[in-house]
Amino acid sequence: MHADGAYGAPVALTDKGRELLRGIERVDSLTMDPHKWLFQPYDVGCVLIRNRRHLRETFSMAPEYLQDIDLGNEQQINFGECGIELSRRFRALKVWLSLKAFGAESFRQAIDHGIMLAEQAEAFMRQTEDWEVVTPAQLGVLTIRYLPKGMATLDTINELNKQLAEEVVHRGFAMVSTTTLKGKVVMRLCTIHPGTTTEELHQILARISGLAAELGASCTHPI
Ligand SMILES: *Cc1c(COP(=O)(O)O)cnc(C)c1O
Repeated sequence: MHADGAYGAPVALTDKGRELLRGIERVDSLTMDPHKWLFQPYDVGCVLIRNRRHLRETFSMAPEYLQDIDLGNEQQINFGECGIELSRRFRALKVWLSLKAFGAESFRQAIDHGIMLAEQAEAFMRQTEDWEVVTPAQLGVLTIRYLPKGMATLDTINELNKQLAEEVVHRGFAMVSTTTLKGKVVMRLCTIHPGTTTEELHQILARISGLAAELGASCTHPI
């Protein structure tokens, strides 16, 4: 059994995350992207695998021009036999170095910080008029949408939220993406930057909501 923890697996470092991901220790393999929630520069994706033999059996090619580097030794790892790349750079170095330099506790705190920011964003938006929290904060992500009273149709509301997200990105004060959940276009906020403060988060949300009111007022399809 494989689990795709590309985004979420690092929360297992925290107390809350360990509880949320209970059972993940039983999988046969787990992907994790240190270039996501372990704050590494692109790119360093990894897979943790319980039985190394499975990789070798899948990827080993042993062509004749590589016969001299066949280690022929079960104990040694030839990464060329563990994936689709033969020549590869030392991606693991940056992960190892930053763990050594900052320590696991710093990572734990930085991850907890991201989880907390999402919860704070949810609380803030629940108190902001004309906004709906569509999916509550979970693992540093939440989705919200602008839902002003008296807006005519779902299509109009969806269009407005799309425009709003575009405008936020265009102005450059935040990066939000959209997705569609059960027909609702929502904005997806991912709050895991370790340098973001609560104050900045509140400023950003207030600015998004101000912009929404401006766009909504100029909307061509009110009731
Ligand atoms: C990001 C992500 C991927 C893709 O990983 P890349 O490193 O961009 O190739 C796959 N699955 C999940 C759940 C992700 O979040």
